Amino acid sequence: MASWRCLELARGVGTSILFREAAALGSLKWKRTATAAGASQITNCLHSVASNSKREPRPVKTRVMTQERGSGETQTTADKYEAVIGIETHVQLGTSTKAFCSCPSEYGSEPNANVCPVCMGLPGALPVLNAAVVESGVKLGLALQANIALKSKFDRKQYFYPDLPKGYQISQFDIPIAEKGYIDVDLPVEFGGGHRRFGVTRVHMEEDAGKLIHAGNDRLSGSSSSQVDLNRAGVPLLEVVSEPEMRTGLEAAEYAAELQRMVRYLGISNGNMQEGSMRCDVNISIRPKGREQFGTKVEIKNMNSFSAMQKAIEFEMDRQIALLEEGERIKQETRLWEEGSQQTISMRSKEGLADYRYFPEPDLPEVVLSQEYIDTTRANLPELPDAKRRRYESLGLSMQDTLVLANDSDVSLFIEIYPMFYSLQIIPKPIEILLLAGNIK
Ligand SMILES: [Zn+2]
Repeated sequence: MASWRCLELARGVGTSILFREAAALGSLKWKRTATAAGASQITNCLHSVASNSKREPRPVKTRVMTQERGSGETQTTADKYEAVIGIETHVQLGTSTKAFCSCPSEYGSEPNANVCPVCMGLPGALPVLNAAVVESGVKLGLALQANIALKSKFDRKQYFYPDLPKGYQISQFDIPIAEKGYIDVDLPVEFGGGHRRFGVTRVHMEEDAGKLIHAGNDRLSGSSSSQVDLNRAGVPLLEVVSEPEMRTGLEAAEYAAELQRMVRYLGISNGNMQEGSMRCDVNISIRPKGREQFGTKVEIKNMNSFSAMQKAIEFEMDRQIALLEEGERIKQETRLWEEGSQQTISMRSKEGLADYRYFPEPDLPEVVLSQEYIDTTRANLPELPDAKRRRYESLGLSMQDTLVLANDSDVSLFIEIYPMFYSLQIIPKPIEILLLAGNIK
């Protein structure tokens, strides 16, 4: 997310010089440095900055955030209400094999190339837990400052769907791997800035389902036939459930962006929303300001970018406020964000809670962790985005520069290893970078 801003805000400390110098080096010198440690990461960084610079920036205004108050006499409609927003995020882990079998967990293979009796749910096949999944869960839990369960377990979540061959999903129900954490967010300066802390209720481990491919349409409705691809069945996920503490589309998008940065910094997922490696379902309800009781919540699915998430929430806030103003009832339902028409549409109504008939997974033992394992994992965590921002800020950088330099792990890596490349006389040293690099460990 920071990358497009990186070019746009190139007048910030160091960044313009850094990229101008890098561009001026030309391909010859870059090739010469290719064997040096980290050189490929630098070139990747520049490539990613170049490609991300084409990304569409977020909308300039958010309706409710920028709603101007009248001269004191009248309240606008939007001022009377507030949104209550919670997010459930599925993070697909970048482990080399699936959660409970040794099939490769890679994206983009031929359909049904990465399957075996376990992930196809054949009778008699038994799951074996991948230790890397537990390690990722503990890392993310610690990064979220959550309590890690020394003993947790897996449960079966029963439901029927053609992409779920076993008829149940292995998940965690009453004892998740991590509980009660939070995410600290710095809102972008161009939107008024400010710090926010949003609670995280829980993080639990589970497996993904397969994927249905609908012929003639990307959805079941309107398609002529459907096929199932089980490559994704059994791929490990961490589900991160937030507290319903966000109030605007911007806050929700920034929460999700910070979670994406965290999983990337931790190296547990590529967090790529377009490939479905990070999927966010947003629950949103509206209530008159000052009221404690929640309104009827609507779930929005199918958002594959932060800007889509922000726009979907703002559309849904407007839609629900208009309904309340007309004295209508909000229907509890799941809605989809349609990028083409820029609106949410009803997918299915959702009366009451689904009964998944959870029970403990009998084929897997409890997950038992030692305090020593947790302490070692904590000691080996990398510096996380929020800590990096605080450190850059303490060096005297403006918040705008801090966000540009710290929020993209590639850009940050480039800045931090720049002094090493200079000392090897591989690249020239711009003055601003010298000043900055001298202060960075
Ligand atoms: Zn398998």
